[in-house]
Amino acid sequence: MQAADGVFDFDSALKIVLEHAASLTPQQSETIPLLACRGRVLAAAVFADRDQPPFDRSTRDGFALRAGDAASPLKVVGLVRAGEQWEGSGLETNAAIEIMTGAPVPAGADAVVMIEHVERDGDTVRLIEGREIRREQNIVPQGSEARAGQTVLPSRTTIEGAEIALAASCGCTNLEVFRRPKVAVIATGDELVDLADTPGPQQIRNSNSYGLAALIAHAGGEPVQLAIAQDRRPELEATIRAARSCDLMLLSGGVSMGKYDLVEEVLQSLGAEFFITGVWMQPGKPLVFGRLPASGEFPAQYFFGLPGNPISTQVTFHCFVEPMLRASSGTGAQPPRFLQATLAEDVSGKAGLMRVLPARWTPDRVRPEVRVVGWQGSGDLAANARANCYAVLPPDRERFTAGDVITILLR
Ligand code: AMP
Ligand code: MG
Repeated sequence: MQAADGVFDFDSALKIVLEHAASLTPQQSETIPLLACRGRVLAAAVFADRDQPPFDRSTRDGFALRAGDAASPLKVVGLVRAGEQWEGSGLETNAAIEIMTGAPVPAGADAVVMIEHVERDGDTVRLIEGREIRREQNIVPQGSEARAGQTVLPSRTTIEGAEIALAASCGCTNLEVFRRPKVAVIATGDELVDLADTPGPQQIRNSNSYGLAALIAHAGGEPVQLAIAQDRRPELEATIRAARSCDLMLLSGGVSMGKYDLVEEVLQSLGAEFFITGVWMQPGKPLVFGRLPASGEFPAQYFFGLPGNPISTQVTFHCFVEPMLRASSGTGAQPPRFLQATLAEDVSGKAGLMRVLPARWTPDRVRPEVRVVGWQGSGDLAANARANCYAVLPPDRERFTAGDVITILLR
């Protein structure tokens, strides 16, 4: 059953999803240990707790000196290691202090010359013929990376290794991050059995719930797997009601035109609005996107009805669910990750439908190349696992030749 005339081309469908995504507000926050924050989104800015660097820092092993003195031989009057402070008063003229990378530059010195650029003879050093030294060379001034109290990581930043290192340098043992949105996963289908059960000859294991749970976690959500729903109205309705406490609901299967594809019908009976009931793409055409109204203790809830064929499920997740999920995890509405790559082999598309084919790309620095992976259609999980991206072929062309630049969807 078609709930409304809501079938769109890919770009229009994505625009609709991104508009709804932009209206989402992130969850409440929680404070968790620094190392648990990878992949999470900051709910409160991180500040520098002191100047960075905290002192004028030498970036070389060498000699601290006054650049203006460097034309003459200089007397070495001391040594300062990383972690030490040179205790003497200001550096006298025509003197130098041996210094290590990461050590504070002694007062009075205005440059550090690298050890490779001087000749040393006892306690005298001189610049090697042809070498020069400018003021401030090889010194990073105190506070030049950040001043004490300055924001170094704004709220809404996604935390990865770079951010964890920066937060650690500011002394943060914990960070305040947004709670991960809870995403309900409902697999529908009379043929499905769970992993704990042995499938009969005509039964299929519920792989979608597992694939989706992994993709949800990767995109910043907390998956909540519900029991498999049979293709019967009362059972489907009960499972949908059980998913109302989550922030977002994903259903897989039951959205095509078959006699037992009941997902839209049941959602409609619960008062759902439908924004999208199909997209001109393959795989993925039967995608459904809508919202259940607030009822009782539950606020309005967005849902996606994803086609049940496992590759269709994953492709539509990357294209439409992921932007929505990232928005409710706090990073704002972002489109799927597309990239341009050069086709390594000829490939054919299909007029009228945008095609999304499992493919492998080589993340080459100069010229990323992509070739599609042979597959048996949108149920072929083995082909999907041999792929590392999807080739996106526009609907207005049937033949693509090696050397053509096409769009790929990263995953
Ligand atoms: P449907 O969208 O319900 O018509 O299902 C399309 C195809 O996907 C059928 O071959 C189903 O058996 C298969 N399928 C549906 N749901 C799942 C699932 N949770 N795991 C694996 N395959 C599924
Ligand atoms: Mg089905």
